Amino acid sequence: MRVFNFSPGPAAIPTAVLERVQQEMLDWNHMGMSAIEISHRGRHYLENIFEPAKANLKKLLNIPENYRIFFITGGAQHQFAMIPINFLGVNKSADYLLTGIWSQKAYQEAQRYGDVRIAADNSANKCTTIPEPSTWILNPRAQYLHYVDNETVNGLEFSYIPEAGEVPLAVDMSSNILSRSIDVSRYGLIYAGAQKNIGPAGLTIVIMREDLIKPAELLTPFLYQYKTYADHDSLYNTPNTFAIYLSGLVFEWILAQGGLEKMAELNKRKAKKLYDYIDQADFYTNHVNPRYRSIMNIVFYCPTPELDQLFVEESAKAGLAYLKGHRLVGGLRASIYNAMPEEGVDALLNFMQDFQRKYA
Ligand code: PMP
Repeated sequence: MRVFNFSPGPAAIPTAVLERVQQEMLDWNHMGMSAIEISHRGRHYLENIFEPAKANLKKLLNIPENYRIFFITGGAQHQFAMIPINFLGVNKSADYLLTGIWSQKAYQEAQRYGDVRIAADNSANKCTTIPEPSTWILNPRAQYLHYVDNETVNGLEFSYIPEAGEVPLAVDMSSNILSRSIDVSRYGLIYAGAQKNIGPAGLTIVIMREDLIKPAELLTPFLYQYKTYADHDSLYNTPNTFAIYLSGLVFEWILAQGGLEKMAELNKRKAKKLYDYIDQADFYTNHVNPRYRSIMNIVFYCPTPELDQLFVEESAKAGLAYLKGHRLVGGLRASIYNAMPEEGVDALLNFMQDFQRKYA
């Protein structure tokens, strides 16, 4: 029995993709072995897994020719270090927009490597809104402006692309990549840990403008230099072949659903159903400025922490998994990535209504 999985990550994978993996596990592509037992340098892997995964991601996001795609083993937090290590050096600085837990963490890591400045900070309003761009302090000589497009813990999402002039944008899209189409040409570097809207944990996807790929000035292990991934097409070391294989199947699945236009339409509808109900319920609350409410991670609260706890326990028994909010902000959180079907959101809505009737 599969439950509706509202986990923020590792998160639900489309059932059809898991069924395909199951079916191919003992004999992939008539090779008499699974896709995770074959050589990452062999023709079968390159032609049937690696290149199609890249091509389908390129198609989904309409990635321009002057961008490279890297498959990097590890999580998004590796990028918190890799970005400053590759872009900073003597007399070089970077700007950070602090809008929630993950951008704060990215800033803390980057500070260790050079002159890193805070361009804006929303912690005074408990990360519930994005400061107006007119208040940002931007350095026109910064090597990049870093921000987190969707703050997974706080349920806060940018509704626009920040404007930083000639300064390249370095953006963490771990929890909203592939939820809608984006204009890749507006970014210098996009990165996303796979375990939310892409595939299994242990893989991060980086999409980088080619002219920004340079040897790192600071002493840097080869595997922490983007140039290594560019020079060796993400095959300097043994990549996470299982995660790339499964992510490739998810890309195919999204294309078969109708691509990102379709995903965006469905994602907006799912999120709207939940926010509309929360707003009119007089029982549940959400504190995020409606202009910046995340369509992927819906954070909400019952009238008391005790009721939040009870909600977590009773919803789990009803087949709705992982609705507990992040320990730093409490409450409840429904993560509704691409793989969450609308029926899952409807089941959650029904549960919320019943719970309210019982305990209001
Ligand atoms: N950035 C964002 C936006 C995230 O949601 C997360 C994971 N929850 C991370 C970074 C950290 O990812 P990882 O654990 O893969 O390093």
